[in-house]
Amino acid sequence: MPLTSDSFRLRLVLLFGGLSIAFMLGITLYINRVATAHIIEDGEERLRNLAFNVALVVENNLEERQREIHLLSHSLPKPGQRLENDNIRRMLALAKKAYRHYAWIGLTDADGVVRVAADGMLEGVDASRRDWFAQSRTGDFIGDVHEAVLLAKKLPAPAPGEPLRFVDFASPVHDEAGRFLGVVASHAHWRWVDEVIHQILPADAEQNGIEVLIANPQGKILYPFKAVNEAHLPDPLRQDPRLTRFHWPENGDYMIGMQRIDSEPGWLIIVRQSADLALAPVTRLHYSLLIIGVAVALLFMILAYWIAITLSRPLERLAQVAQAIEHDDESGSFAVDCRLREIRTLADSLRDMFSHLRASKKALQEANASLEEKVDRRTRELREANLALEQLARHDTLTGLHNRLAANERLRSEFQRSRRSQQEEALLVIDVDHFKRVNDTWGHETGDQVLIHIADQLKASARQTDFVARLGGEEFLAILPDTSPAGAMIVAEKIRAGIADSTAPTVGRVTVSIGVGIVEADDKDEDDALRRADQALYRAKGGGRNCVMR
Ligand code: GH3
Ligand code: MG
Ligand code: MG
Repeated sequence: MPLTSDSFRLRLVLLFGGLSIAFMLGITLYINRVATAHIIEDGEERLRNLAFNVALVVENNLEERQREIHLLSHSLPKPGQRLENDNIRRMLALAKKAYRHYAWIGLTDADGVVRVAADGMLEGVDASRRDWFAQSRTGDFIGDVHEAVLLAKKLPAPAPGEPLRFVDFASPVHDEAGRFLGVVASHAHWRWVDEVIHQILPADAEQNGIEVLIANPQGKILYPFKAVNEAHLPDPLRQDPRLTRFHWPENGDYMIGMQRIDSEPGWLIIVRQSADLALAPVTRLHYSLLIIGVAVALLFMILAYWIAITLSRPLERLAQVAQAIEHDDESGSFAVDCRLREIRTLADSLRDMFSHLRASKKALQEANASLEEKVDRRTRELREANLALEQLARHDTLTGLHNRLAANERLRSEFQRSRRSQQEEALLVIDVDHFKRVNDTWGHETGDQVLIHIADQLKASARQTDFVARLGGEEFLAILPDTSPAGAMIVAEKIRAGIADSTAPTVGRVTVSIGVGIVEADDKDEDDALRRADQALYRAKGGGRNCVMR
């Protein structure tokens, strides 16, 4: 059956397919939304956690360095306020060795001049103007990251073009009486922060575009090294550490996590990831969902097609059988192999209806056939009755010749025909002579036999085209078409002689008189010639009978 727009199967497929696509679209959109939100939330949390961990480790590290210098300030031997001695130098050297990122550890006097230092470095140099000396007279000090000033010439650069950067830690030294003796200070290489960050960041951080920034409270970038002095932390980031997205005018969109180190020096740790890379899983998810959605929708469509076929095939089969029956092909069967009760019921009903219809049709055909036969028989009988009636109406029962009615009709039609064809025509009126005597002598029955005999004689002598009738009593008429007056005289004479020479039953010899009437050109109708024949007959009677007169 063709799949037109009104086909049951096509509509089922479209319905199921449409529903499945709509359903899959809904589910996909929902999953997409929820999953996208989750992925973004997870990403933000990951960056926040990273920032938190970096801050924690940096803070711990700073505290640890500070604690070391603090302890050192309290444990240095103070013999007679003389600071220069080898013991102190050894202790400072030991302390410097204990942490490999220490670049310098030394002790100043109360005026800020370096008296003792690990490896004797910068001894005798005046550091009274350095922050770490000035600000640690009253307590522990952690300085911001700064470029090496005094040590720049003494230590090798970490990398070509990269300046030495240090974080300073300092603690004041007092004697037992509490008098200020000087400051013990250390410069730690800022590179340790690089190490710390690399330990904390996951291995694929760089690949995923994850970067760490450290800025001081004024927004100066301290890390990464290459950005120091070149970039300034945008103000909104400094003001709102809960921001999760930020657009760097020169770099683009980023997802960010931030954590401030609460204690000195109050740095801000920012972990950022380019939005493109951070949202890559979202894009991947979109594609995966799209592919899964299309695949599932296709699967649903195939399933829908299968269901549609299961539903529509038995119906199509029933329709085909019904159509075949409509075209007089009754070979199909309404039996369907279907598990659906409604369709089985439909098939059963159709089968019952069809067998009922077939029985009715057969009965009707039989009734029709017998009716036709009856009608045929009746028509035949009627035709026969009509023929018999015709015979009766136009024939004489005694002699079997045509009667007067038929004679009148033939007279008229022959008159008109002779007029049309301009042919001659003659009429003979024949009357038995002294027939009354026959009746009187031999009886009426014998008279009838004589009449039959005369009729037979007339039939025998008439030509094929001639018409013979009994006009009534013992009077007969012969119509002779296409016959000349002379020919008519000959025929009449032949009749007369034939009868006169024949032997009638019982009676023996009978004679007839014949009047001949010729149809003439100026005759009005057939009666004119008939009248002339009658007059001629009258003359024949008068002339002695057994003769022909014209
Ligand atoms: P004519 O020679 O002058 O004709 O004499 P006719 O006796 O024949 O004349 P008419 O006409 O007087 O007589 C006719 C008779 O024919 C009278 C009637 O009884 C008789 N007839 C008429 N019809 C029938 C019939 O059907 N059967 C018999 N048996 N006789 C008939
Ligand atoms: Mg007569
Ligand atoms: Mg007569």
